[in-house]
Amino acid sequence: MSMPNIKSEPELRQDLIRICRMMSLKNYVAATDGNVTIRMGDRIIATPSGVNKGFLEADQLLVTDLDGQLVSGVGRPTTEIRIHLLVYQMRPEVQAVVHAHAPLATAFSIADILLPADLLPEVIMTLGAIPTTEYATPASEEGPEVIRPWVPSCDAMILKRHGTLTLGRDVYEAYNRLEKIEHLAAVALAAHSLGRSPRLSKAQVRRLAQIGVDSGYISPAAAQLACAGVKKSAGKPKKG
Ligand SMILES: [Zn+2]
Repeated sequence: MSMPNIKSEPELRQDLIRICRMMSLKNYVAATDGNVTIRMGDRIIATPSGVNKGFLEADQLLVTDLDGQLVSGVGRPTTEIRIHLLVYQMRPEVQAVVHAHAPLATAFSIADILLPADLLPEVIMTLGAIPTTEYATPASEEGPEVIRPWVPSCDAMILKRHGTLTLGRDVYEAYNRLEKIEHLAAVALAAHSLGRSPRLSKAQVRRLAQIGVDSGYISPAAAQLACAGVKKSAGKPKKG
């Protein structure tokens, strides 16, 4: 019988720091941008506000309750913690949330172009669909509202003119989804500049989405969204 892999708080803090350094090295965040949280039962380990992710140390991380109230640590939790809290409230199985300001993915949202998930088979299988939310003033109470329609079905989304939001069963999964998004944005841009970027056929997308569901990578709702096309649903997302 296999034991569930439950990590200690020091181990989770170390995981979170590793992800922050990686985000910084990969240029997914600039200066003090971005934030990462890991759920620990009824507590959340969160990056503090105003610290460059490349220089963050484990003892600077904060612990809050599920309402974002500081439980331990010195400083202010990330200003965008409301977004993280809503995710944990709506998706009890999610154990980590990664928010970055990945430049290429963000540029697509400024150009008002949905990320074309149907360029790469792997993206359909592992992410399904990547919606772009409505615009919200960063760190405002609008932040959670614009993600709310997508949280029930999607593990990866673009916050318009702002950045990426990815969810995972652990922080590595959430981070990997961020890497996938920015990689897709880079490939899409390169293919576009080469002059031809044909999409996968609807039948190919259907088949890939089914594999994604069968393999446990994506939810049936995400598969449905991938097959229907995010665009069509974007006007009236399902309320969660
Ligand atoms: Zn942000």
